[in-house]
Amino acid sequence: IIREDAGWSLDNSYLRLPETFYTNVWPTPVQSPQLFVLNSDLANSLGIANEFLKSKEGVEVLAGNQMPIGAEPLAQAYAGHQFGHFTMLGDGRAILIGEQITPKGERFDIQLKGPGRTPYSRRGDGRAGLGPMLREYIISEAMHALGIPTTRSLAVVTTGETVIRETFQPGAILTRVAASHIRVGTFEYAASFGTSEELQSLADYTLQRHYPDFEGRQNQYLYLLEEVIKHQAELIAKWQLVGFIHGVMNTDNMTICGETIDYGPCAFMDTYDPATVFSSIDTYGRYAYRNQPNIATWNLARFAGTLLPLLDQSHEQAIEIAKAAIAQFTPQFEQAWLTGMKAKLGIVNHEEADKELIEGLLSMMQKYGADYTNTFRALTLNQVNELVLFGYDEFTQWYEMWLARISRQEQSKDEILQLMKNSNPAIIPRNHRVEEAIEAAVELSDYGVMEKLNEVLSEPYAYTVDQEHYASLPDASYGAYRTFCG
Ligand code: AMP
Ligand code: MG
Ligand code: MG
Repeated sequence: IIREDAGWSLDNSYLRLPETFYTNVWPTPVQSPQLFVLNSDLANSLGIANEFLKSKEGVEVLAGNQMPIGAEPLAQAYAGHQFGHFTMLGDGRAILIGEQITPKGERFDIQLKGPGRTPYSRRGDGRAGLGPMLREYIISEAMHALGIPTTRSLAVVTTGETVIRETFQPGAILTRVAASHIRVGTFEYAASFGTSEELQSLADYTLQRHYPDFEGRQNQYLYLLEEVIKHQAELIAKWQLVGFIHGVMNTDNMTICGETIDYGPCAFMDTYDPATVFSSIDTYGRYAYRNQPNIATWNLARFAGTLLPLLDQSHEQAIEIAKAAIAQFTPQFEQAWLTGMKAKLGIVNHEEADKELIEGLLSMMQKYGADYTNTFRALTLNQVNELVLFGYDEFTQWYEMWLARISRQEQSKDEILQLMKNSNPAIIPRNHRVEEAIEAAVELSDYGVMEKLNEVLSEPYAYTVDQEHYASLPDASYGAYRTFCG
């Protein structure tokens, strides 16, 4: 254990849950760890000294070879529905080292991803490859900058060891920071394999940690359900609005706090097509762009199912209560989506035909294969002649309707422009740019490409000239993009 203070302030509230929820386990030491990328801003907000994290001792901690003072490493138990099938899971390649209490008094899980085997590893090696960990780093930090709730990435270290996947990869460990790692699957685990007391402990713990306003409410477990539904409705609306496709929305990859988690096969949609799927294992398109709200509802119904014993004395009554709560997802999602879409088009007030106007644009984008992000970007920049849609009568009509629509508001042109800039990212992590950055880093040890990409992605709403390069599409020969679970 490293005694040096360095700003660590670790608590371990998860250990105070019943033992069934975790197993104490230490990371397996690695040969020769080296720091690959460090998120200095995040370290600062956590109150952990950058100088320490860059030092030899710091890198030993990020690699799991040493533990900081206060750490009590554990692997969490959870279950989940994967592509609809229920199974026991758990942290098979992740270890929670503790909960950092920040200078502001917030609590964040500090988790190592790729630290070696745990009792939940099944046939896996407990390790991670450098490529996928850099991908998680880039995309999770880009999501944060886009204003979307997400786990964060503090650092990636290489281990000096090799992992075997489709190819040989340098081994790596990502330090993931999250409001917590409690998942729908954690509740499914409690409901299927635990006692009713254990389930209730988990629900009480979750309320305390994430929804402390439960105090004084009549039915606190219904409140928990309703809050999770509300947070997920808002989250999924945000995904849809930027064209983010998670790719593997299994119930174990859905958090109770409403943060995006698990950046495996995710990617941003380029050409607007609601059927878009990137993941190589998602053969039937279960997790396609257009299905994300429905899948979220399905997952939340699994969550509600775990809470039934806590919702009411009578099972029938509990089912009715749960159903009514789940029914709130769609209107909440649609409201958040509509408000967000209107903002993307510079619309603030309400008119009956707004939804039609939005749908008119989306269906043209689909019909003519327009790029999702760049269409809104061009509308924002008033560069309509650059649009794929430009020149079609359909579009000309729509464009005139839209201009007339935004003029029927009190807001000035400048205010509307500002709203559009704040609602339409000028850049997103384009698949070919992310791949290019990872390839340069992994194959050529050239980190410059990734550093520049990360820098640009940290201000997606800035509309600066040096972003142009990152807004451009790959040339036609790039072909269909495929993602893997890593
Ligand atoms: P994911 O697809 O990342 O959500 O992971 C699903 C489950 O597989 C989780 O229980 C992971 O901990 C486990 N898992 C994924 N990769 C590995 C690995 N290399 N070694 C051990 N367990 C793994
Ligand atoms: Mg245990
Ligand atoms: Mg997962």
